[in-house]
Amino acid sequence: MIEVRRPAPDGKLLASLHDRTRRLGQAPTTESARAEWRQAKAVRRDVRRLLETAAPGMARCMYCGDSQGTDVDHFEPLKRAPGRAFDWLNHLLACSYCNSNKKRDRFPCDEHGGPLLIDPTAEAPYDHLRLTFSTGHYVALSAKGAATIAVFGLGRPALERGRAAAFVRCRSMLRDCAALLNGGDAAGAGEVRNALLVQPFADVLHGMLRHAHRPGAAVVFGAEVVGILKRWHTMAPGASAALPGARHGGDAGVAGGRAAAGEVRPPR
Ligand SMILES: [Zn+2]
Repeated sequence: MIEVRRPAPDGKLLASLHDRTRRLGQAPTTESARAEWRQAKAVRRDVRRLLETAAPGMARCMYCGDSQGTDVDHFEPLKRAPGRAFDWLNHLLACSYCNSNKKRDRFPCDEHGGPLLIDPTAEAPYDHLRLTFSTGHYVALSAKGAATIAVFGLGRPALERGRAAAFVRCRSMLRDCAALLNGGDAAGAGEVRNALLVQPFADVLHGMLRHAHRPGAAVVFGAEVVGILKRWHTMAPGASAALPGARHGGDAGVAGGRAAAGEVRPPR
């Protein structure tokens, strides 16, 4: 899971969402909210498309970062908050597995009623989750991290194997990048950089960028890889950026995550 910058809906979509919320009435039920949501085909499509522009990689799920984001998930479920059916701040892009098989209506809260799930558009997931690169395993750093792992199934074996493989792939591609740069081929290095930014499991590259400045990073990643990670923000993106998000401009757009690799928080 990586941080996602939530885009702003245009006036037309905002008006539609507002109108639909008004139509729900003062005391909507879960059933009436679900019925309205199902009926609002055009609004659902527009919400999904806008979320896709902010999702990691090639419109990946904002929770697992692996599968295609196909569903608009209500972060606070309609069962609990039917009035938020058309609340833009309650919409996230999820794969059907995370949405329908894992999260469903679950929404654990702490003793003060605050959500125990990480909303990647509202907070930094890595404040609550630490990734072990070699195994792809997430360790919880807080109660919220533990609940997030449990509810979204972030420890499922396919995801852990996928993250571990992504780590190998990232290291290899970063070494390619370094070799191209050393050979004076900045454009070639930029192409590799673009490709890295749209890989599934964006959390792996983001984690590596955050860890590059920490002591011991060279032991885990290799000195050459650490060198390129440290130069990452100054590298020019490749020319053939016909990738999702390129239309939004800038590195963050190419990265798909929008709060993407170019904007990774400095290490603490
Ligand atoms: Zn997912």
